[in-house]
This record gives sequence, structure tokens and C-alpha cells, in this order.
Amino acid sequence: MRHRIAVVGGGPAGLTFARVMHRHGHPVTVLERDAGPDARPPGGTLDLHEGLGLLALEKAGLAAEFEALSRPEGQAMRILAPDGTVLRDWRPDPDERANPEIDRGQLRDLLIGPLDVRWGRGVTRVVPGSRDGARVEFTDGRQETYDLVVGADGAWSRVRAALSPVTPHYTGVTSVETSLDDIDTRHPDLARLIGDGSLSVYGVNRSLTAQRNSGGHVKVYAKFRAPLDWHADLDLADAEAVRSSLLALFDGWAAPVLELLRRGTTFVHRPMHTLPVSHTWTHVPGVTLLGDAAHLMPPLGVGANLAMLEGAELAEAVAGGPEDLDGTVRAFEERMWPRAGKWAEFTTAGLERLVSPDPAEAIAVFDRVQA
Ligand SMILES: Cc1cc2nc3c(=O)[nH]c(=O)nc-3n(C[C@H](O)[C@H](O)[C@H](O)COP(=O)(O)OP(=O)(O)OC[C@H]3O[C@@H](n4cnc5c(N)ncnc54)[C@H](O)[C@@H]3O)c2cc1C
Repeated sequence: MRHRIAVVGGGPAGLTFARVMHRHGHPVTVLERDAGPDARPPGGTLDLHEGLGLLALEKAGLAAEFEALSRPEGQAMRILAPDGTVLRDWRPDPDERANPEIDRGQLRDLLIGPLDVRWGRGVTRVVPGSRDGARVEFTDGRQETYDLVVGADGAWSRVRAALSPVTPHYTGVTSVETSLDDIDTRHPDLARLIGDGSLSVYGVNRSLTAQRNSGGHVKVYAKFRAPLDWHADLDLADAEAVRSSLLALFDGWAAPVLELLRRGTTFVHRPMHTLPVSHTWTHVPGVTLLGDAAHLMPPLGVGANLAMLEGAELAEAVAGGPEDLDGTVRAFEERMWPRAGKWAEFTTAGLERLVSPDPAEAIAVFDRVQA
């Protein structure tokens, strides 16, 4: 008998799970809160790594299509000191494919392909152990039951509460994101400054990173240590006020670097929250978690990769052993937790060093990862 399976959330975790299930001939229901694929900006670029996100795409049968869309040149990384001195300038060999970049929107469309995503289906709660399975409750009051509900609904997961009382906590590091369009034609000086991939500048307890997306779009992230309410006297909707406040915070940095903030358009505040590094739960039949919902960690290039690999692995396990669904899910969770814990430790330590009182720590992280 075919199991009724729903995945809550159409991000990297949920879509990879659904796509690999689809590949194995087991369609699942994807319940996504957004009203449609273009309901909000899809976000920046993601680098997918060998053995993680790239392996997940192989499992989904999408490696060749990914290769055609991805930007291997985007692996280039340049590091400057706040005074503008170039400290590192790493460019990939032409055949280097360990960590190619792809726009998040392109990845989403690639994964969706033939999937039937049910848009505008925000979930408020999942109640396991009800008479006919796990009950999913929606924002519009509807309810549905499934044999398995996979919570892939990100940092502020509503599914998580069915398994764990834990909620994300603030890391003490926040981020304000801005962006530049048509950089090669409208801002050629900044295009040269950034290069083909990303540029990072590390100062005392703060950093600026500019990262190319496709089509000449660049995202700029100002990261700094601050209390969560650092903007109490600031109207975050007032772009000029946010710009001035950031320019004051990065005062004294080289003029070309500050141009990244001066010419940015809108500003979006993204405080960094995480779950405890070894977040686990007592297994509950009928519900599980993937990706950020299970193990939100600092955004250091791992979260989407892990989310995708978990989605692919759970799908392969469920599709390969459908007779014992609960045992399969339990075994998957036990494999997922230690690996996620290891990456959570790594990224948590990484954040401490990348936004630290000693900028030399950040360069050391770069050198270690490159080696
Ligand atoms: C600035 C930044 C840069 C990053 N760069 C990288 C990178 O280069 N590489 C990398 O590996 N990771 C990166 N990450 C981390 C990565 O974005 C996340 O780890 C990844 O998106 C997690 O995927 P997910 O599917 O678990 O969750 P999400 O991507 O958060 O997707 C969750 C989905 O669930 C939906 N949803 C939420 N609540 C509900 C609900 N109640 N009902 C129904 N649907 C719901 C959401 O709309 C969303 O579509 C970055 C993060 C940030 C913030």
C-alpha cells in the first residue's frame, strides 16, 4: 500500500526530498506557505559542495542540468583588509567544480520541475498520533492527515513543535543585506573590486561580503556583533537611515569598499539565529524534520547543502523500504543527528572567528578551508 506522505516547505530540503521521491515513482504532497514561486525574492546565491548538495542533485538525477546552470567561476574569493589592501585573491582553475554557485531561484525551479507544489498552504501545527495518522492544520482552518509529515519548513518551523520544545536563539551576530543590479554596466569599478565570485573584508567584530549572483546582480552582507534590538532607534524601512547607520558602523574603511553600501538599494535586516548544536528529539511516529527545521546553524555555506542531502537520503530510504516506514524514518534520524551536530559545531566555531575581535582569525579560517 502506498503511504500518504506530505512535506511541509518548498525550500532546498523539501523540494529535494519530493524530487527524489518522484524519481523513484512515489509522488508526495509539497505544502508551501508562499502564494507562488515568485511571491517573495528568492534570496542570493548558494555554493553547493561535493559530497553534499552536489551528491543530492545526483540522487535527484539533476547533475547535468545543474552543471548547465551553475557558475564555477563564482568560486573565486578575494579578501581585503579594511584599508583596501588585498590579502588573498583566490581564483579557481577552469575545471574546478568542487563548490560551484547557483542562484537560489534557479535551484528552486530546477528542483520543482514536474513536482506538484501546493502553494499558499501555510501550516500552523502538526498533531501526531491522531486516529488516521499525523494531522496537519492549515492557516485557513483546513486539516489533512498523512502517514508521514516531513517538516522542512525552515528556521521558524511550525512542525518542529510536534517533536521538540526548542526554539532558535540569537547568536549575537546580525546581518543587513543590500544589493546592486547590472553591476558590470552600472558599477564597473565595483565589478572589478569584487571579481568573478565574492569579496570579503574583515574588521573588528564586523565584516562586509559582496557576492555575485547571475545576471550582474550582487548581494552585499554587512555582518556585525550587536544586541538584537540594535536598531531600536532606527526605522528599518527607511533605506537612507539604515545606510547612514551602516556607514557610521564601518567608518574608516576604504572608500571603494564603502561604495558597496553607498550604492546599495534596499536594506534587509537578517539577525542570525541557531538551534543548539546537538539538537535531537525523541522519535515520534508519523513526523520528522529536515534541514534548518532540524538543525539551524550559522549561514556559512553548509545549511542548504545539508538540507538537500538529507532530503535525498530520506527519500531514497523511504522509497527503498516502504514496508517499515516508521523504522526507516527512525534510522534516518539517527544517521542525520551526529552529522548535523558536527557541521553545527564547525559553523558555530566559524562564525565566532569570522566576526571576531581579531580579524586575523577570519583569514586563518579562509586559509584552513582552502587548504
Ligand atoms: C544570507 C544567507 C546565505 C546562505 N548561503 C548559503 C550557502 O551558500 N550554502 C548553503 O549551503 N547554505 C547557505 N545558507 C543557509 C541556507 O539558506 C539554509 O540552510 C537552507 O535554505 C535551509 O533549507 P530548508 O529547506 O531547510 O529551509 P528554507 O530554505 O528556509 O525553506 C523552508 C520553506 O518552508 C516554507 N515554510 C515556512 N514555514 C512554513 C509553514 N508554516 N507552512 C508551509 N511552508 C512553510 C518557506 O516558505 C520555505 O519555502 C545561507 C543562508 C543565508 C541566510
